[in-house]
Amino acid sequence: MDVEKLFHMTGGAGPTSYAKNSYLQKNVSDMVKHITLETLQELYLELTPKTISIADLGCSSGPNSLATIKAMVETVEKTDRKSGEAPEFYVYLNDLPTNDFNSVFRALPDFYRQLSIERNGACPSVFISGCPGSFYGRLLPKNSLHFIYSSNSLHWLSKVPPGLYNEEGESVNKGNIYISESSSPAVSLAYFNQFQEDFSLFLGSRSKELVVGGRMVLILLGRVGSDHVDRGNYILWELLSRSLANLVSKQDLISTSSKMDVENIFHMTGGSGSTSYANNSSFQMKASDMVKHITVETIEQLYLESFPKTIGIADMGCSSGRNSLPVIKTIVESVEEIGRLLAEPPEFYVYLNDLPSNDFNSIFKALPDFFRQLMEERNGGCPSIFFAGCAGSFYGRLLPKNSMHFVYSSYCLHWLSKVPPSLYNEKGESLNKGNLYISESSPPAVSLAYLLQFQEDFSVFLRSRSKELVCRGRMLLILLGRVDQDNHVDRGNSFFWELLSRSLTILASQGKLNKEKLDCYHAHFYAPSKWEIEDQVRREGSFFLDRFEMYQPEKTCNGTSYGFAVAMTVRAAQEVMLRHHFGLEVDGILDTLFEIYGNMVDEEMAKEEIEPFTFLLVLRKL
Ligand code: SAH
Repeated sequence: MDVEKLFHMTGGAGPTSYAKNSYLQKNVSDMVKHITLETLQELYLELTPKTISIADLGCSSGPNSLATIKAMVETVEKTDRKSGEAPEFYVYLNDLPTNDFNSVFRALPDFYRQLSIERNGACPSVFISGCPGSFYGRLLPKNSLHFIYSSNSLHWLSKVPPGLYNEEGESVNKGNIYISESSSPAVSLAYFNQFQEDFSLFLGSRSKELVVGGRMVLILLGRVGSDHVDRGNYILWELLSRSLANLVSKQDLISTSSKMDVENIFHMTGGSGSTSYANNSSFQMKASDMVKHITVETIEQLYLESFPKTIGIADMGCSSGRNSLPVIKTIVESVEEIGRLLAEPPEFYVYLNDLPSNDFNSIFKALPDFFRQLMEERNGGCPSIFFAGCAGSFYGRLLPKNSMHFVYSSYCLHWLSKVPPSLYNEKGESLNKGNLYISESSPPAVSLAYLLQFQEDFSVFLRSRSKELVCRGRMLLILLGRVDQDNHVDRGNSFFWELLSRSLTILASQGKLNKEKLDCYHAHFYAPSKWEIEDQVRREGSFFLDRFEMYQPEKTCNGTSYGFAVAMTVRAAQEVMLRHHFGLEVDGILDTLFEIYGNMVDEEMAKEEIEPFTFLLVLRKL
């Protein structure tokens, strides 16, 4: 059994989930909470770091982890009152790649809201990221942690001990799940050997990651006497063995094995189904391939300038798709190429960011294969790359100060933080009825509302990244844009929205969609012009625009009509929003809607090209 790939606590928030069934674990960690907090306080007073890095190893999907983190933040805050300046917190929540990180990330907005309410609106700087991987190996860069906490995790071994099977592959512990009274001494030895191997790997890895003087608080199940068979942990397994045996004997067990809160709602369709973003993002993939040489050049320049030992990289808006990892691979290979001549190759720290409702689970589950491939290509030697998922809006701070060298973002920045509020008059009525985006019939106030929202968002984005990037750090941004400064309505991006408006209107006229709801449904999207981008960069003042390019990536269809491919891409980005705005009844018409839309795109293309523009910018932090 590949434990690291299969094992995880039941995710979600259902009646059988870990989240709803981990009171026992919570009681234990509550009992020793004072020791955890005292240890942290001691460490903080001793080292007084400006950014305090904490990892919870084996966080699962439950709420226990966030409750502990909250108590830790409060402890440091209390301690800090005496010393003055408040530190920033960097928190890594670790678990295996199959863990339900989505649940953890979805709980973050409430976590921050509560912190903020309790402090009358002033929230401490707590940056939380998910860190998928086995703690029986390296997870984080050298000397990057001050405090490690692990509760109820370390009694889980990395694998079922191989010594439990004889040469023929038969179990030497038949009928038992764990060491039991009927087990031979070889069974306890096999478990003990596995524990020794695992625990020493754990200690070896943590010793690299912790700073000198760093602390670990580890809570795990143990036994008191020398005898493995007791009425403590053993009895639970024994009872489970008996229940399973009971089932087997009964032959039941057959085999052994509108004012939309965009930031909380918006996400690409997750998973890997036919309507998922992962399967409908080849256009975006093509574009990032097209600019690959620029990514490589930018990274090479950056690396040659200062040869950092740890390179911090962030992909902002990584989605659940497959486009992020190949870019990271390109970046790593570019640095490796130069680093070949150096004695010590650098370590990479990669933050994959998206909104909390994004399907991070899919991307984390792809990591083991990503590493396997890297290893194969290097005959077993793998570069040190540490991934973390970072859930939150990039229209705000996400990462600690000066922690990044390179920020990459592809096909994200045309998504605004919200539908522009000034699209609605004082009575809450839309000024752009019946249109999803700026169209020929939109009054000038509509384009202005969109422009203002873009300006506000893009400047927050630049300001936030300017804090996170080191001096001379780079950003490579790919986004949809428009060519004509004076005209928002073109046969590019705005036309795709126009066709979606028309398709929705057809369904409304057939009584399949509520017309009033359609009138106030608008996209949180904006295609800026080159000038508008340059203007914001100038005004914000922390970056120099090194490079600006315009592209029209090749059309991709994968054997279908172009219209169908566009419809699926748009669907992956709009389905969640449509469902949220119109209600679940929209589910019944989604197939029809995107069929109409796809046909319309094909018909229009037959008349005249629709040519959306993609912009590429390389920005250098001054
Ligand atoms: N970069 C990927 C995915 C692009 S899809 C690619 O090139 O294929 C756009 C992604 O941006 C979505 O996953 C969406 O959730 C994310 N996104 C949009 N607004 C965001 C915000 N404010 N903060 C973080 N991510 C955001």
